[in-house]
Amino acid sequence: MVKAANLGFPRIGTRRELKKALEAYWKGEADAAALEATGATLRAESWAAQRDAGIKRIPSNDFSFYDQVLDTTAMLGAIPGRFAGLGGFDAYFAMARGTDTAPAMEMTKWFDTNYHYIVPELTADMTFHLANDLPVQRFNEAKAQGIHTRPVLVGPVSWLALGKVKTDGLDPLSLLPDVLAVYAELLGKLAEAGSDWVQIDEPILARDLSEAEARAVRTAYSTLAGKAPEILLATYFGGLGDNLDLATGLPVDGLHVDLVRAPDQLDDVLSQFGDRLLSLGLIDGRNIWRADLTRALGLARQAVDAFGPDRVEVAPSCSLLHVPVDATLETHLDDELRSWLAFARQKLDEVVALARAARKGREAARAAFDAADAAVASRAASARIHDPTVKARADSVSDADMRRSSPHPVRAVEQSARLDLPALPTTTIGSFPQTAEIRNARAANRKGEMSDADYRAFLEERTIECIRRQEALGLDVLVHGEFERNDMVEYFGEQLSGFAFTKNGWVQSYGSRCVKPPMVYGDVSRPSPMTVDWARFAAAQTDRPMKGMLTGPVTILQWSFVRDDQPRAETAKQIALAIRNEVADLEAAGLPIIQIDEAALREGLPLRRSDWPAYLDWAVAAFRLASSPVSDATQIHTHMCYSEFNDILPAIAAMDADVISIETSRSDMELLDAFCDFDYPNQIGPGVWDIHSPRVADETEMVRLLKAAAEWIPADRIWVNPDCGLKTRGWPEVERSLTHLVRAAAQMRQSPNAMASTSS
Ligand code: GLN
Ligand code: ZN
Repeated sequence: MVKAANLGFPRIGTRRELKKALEAYWKGEADAAALEATGATLRAESWAAQRDAGIKRIPSNDFSFYDQVLDTTAMLGAIPGRFAGLGGFDAYFAMARGTDTAPAMEMTKWFDTNYHYIVPELTADMTFHLANDLPVQRFNEAKAQGIHTRPVLVGPVSWLALGKVKTDGLDPLSLLPDVLAVYAELLGKLAEAGSDWVQIDEPILARDLSEAEARAVRTAYSTLAGKAPEILLATYFGGLGDNLDLATGLPVDGLHVDLVRAPDQLDDVLSQFGDRLLSLGLIDGRNIWRADLTRALGLARQAVDAFGPDRVEVAPSCSLLHVPVDATLETHLDDELRSWLAFARQKLDEVVALARAARKGREAARAAFDAADAAVASRAASARIHDPTVKARADSVSDADMRRSSPHPVRAVEQSARLDLPALPTTTIGSFPQTAEIRNARAANRKGEMSDADYRAFLEERTIECIRRQEALGLDVLVHGEFERNDMVEYFGEQLSGFAFTKNGWVQSYGSRCVKPPMVYGDVSRPSPMTVDWARFAAAQTDRPMKGMLTGPVTILQWSFVRDDQPRAETAKQIALAIRNEVADLEAAGLPIIQIDEAALREGLPLRRSDWPAYLDWAVAAFRLASSPVSDATQIHTHMCYSEFNDILPAIAAMDADVISIETSRSDMELLDAFCDFDYPNQIGPGVWDIHSPRVADETEMVRLLKAAAEWIPADRIWVNPDCGLKTRGWPEVERSLTHLVRAAAQMRQSPNAMASTSS
């Protein structure tokens, strides 16, 4: 019987109950028992919802109070020494969030999602033991509710591969045997508790593996497989590619493959993975659109024909953690738009309908298939989605549209004549503190408690004050402060056509933090200017150069749910054209500098290196398209909030921004090593103040960083700025740090050695 299966369900709750419970606990307003109780309720509800939907393979241990990788770390007893002496929730949350004396463990993005996991710390002297048996407890908890679950574990090789080595020279995979011993013990306990199957996630199988990693995968599963419980090895976030032989050759009892991102791998999987259970990831766990069930059924049938109905399961492509919970809550959306959506709960229904149709034919799930076909047809034809003007404009883009009129050195001369800036000009990245006062005013305005006029007047005051403070600090290039913006993507999405917003579409980003990504459902255009008013207002308040601030096309794309009926590249191009209009309007309004932030360009890199060039091609093209309508004398800035882009430096240079500001202070200018191999041709502002820390930036330290930068970059191409925007900081530390920053720049200008390195 083709079974309907699920790999993981959102844990935050329909109304973000987990967030509220966590934050109450952290504030000391609720005790551990209350937090445990909320967790238990959320688990019970999600198990019941899955059972009631008709899911036959229901996951357990997909719940987490913070992160499943951190849970694995805790379970393995791999707790860093600085947290010794703490127990229970105290130790657990200390690892995630830090304490006064012990800094938090690092956090980073989970593959190409916007979910962040807590990075395991690997040291040579670490030992492992089964420190808790939560997976067994959760299995029993569900069993007590009459629900037989399939426990989910983060795989041992992925856990190690995602860890960070803290002992020089340590090979992380050398820890594998000890880690496997703990997994084996756990699996034994699960079997004793009555678990017949477990799901072990090895998402690293969807990315490039080293020989050693591949060997570790073989070792892991020849050690763990062949005993009870049976193992379903789950792969997702892409195709197996050159890991296909490896994955299908493992002695596991079942394999889950992602057929949303990689439908083409089905033939090979079917021919190579014989005689065992195959789980088909047919419903998109990464996006919010209703599935094309007819197409999915074609793939399911192919598998059933080859394997027989008893060895096939139908499932989402990956855990549903990455989509919001319930589209039916979005009652403010019109019926048509809502009919195109499927969040986690609706995806369960899709899985069940698909499994039923795979067993008994389409007629057995006719209503679901008819509705899915209708949604596909209406999306294909809807005038709200398809705007011929946008398509025609995108089709007519020429190479010339993606080029500035002159190369950077020529532009630089014109710009410096126009701007008249000192050497090593100082500036900031855009936002200034979003104080409680500002957030409250925005909330009051949204609720209708503050009139638009009052809100506008309030924002004008804050903006003027921010400009005065920048003048007093002596900054050279000013910004307006971004007080009118809630979020750097949402602000633009709300003003572009083709975007829609949910009210409850929360997705976990990390811990209690959730985001509500915009949905790009149709062709994108800009009905009217989005930032010009504020930019013009700000520029009029001062004699100094003002930067107009925009979010770039790749970042808008990356932080939204995007349509799946055309390539991402095409959507990026449409957004780029909309931003291009804004750039042109800002220039016409007299802004001498326009910054286009591409905070998310790097995180959009595909998991497989072989897919990088194609991505970088269209991503860079989108930026160039957005930024190129201006004259030579208008200076284009961009900003990126990370430093690990040594390997994509040529692409960054190809964006051809006149000035780029980047994060470097946390990595102590490590990035700049790349500049000895690659001569970055334009101007660059290596961040000299780590704004992620509440520490006041130190002047001597900033001078040291600037001198390090001047080793590689001619001083007449260096800017002085913080690492990122200042919206999360408070005014007192901002003023002090910026005072130091301005003084550091002044010191540098005085330093003949540093200034000797110019490009001429
Ligand atoms: N201009 C934005 C700001 O200053 C950039 C933020 C970002 O890069 N994440 O807030
Ligand atoms: Zn940033």
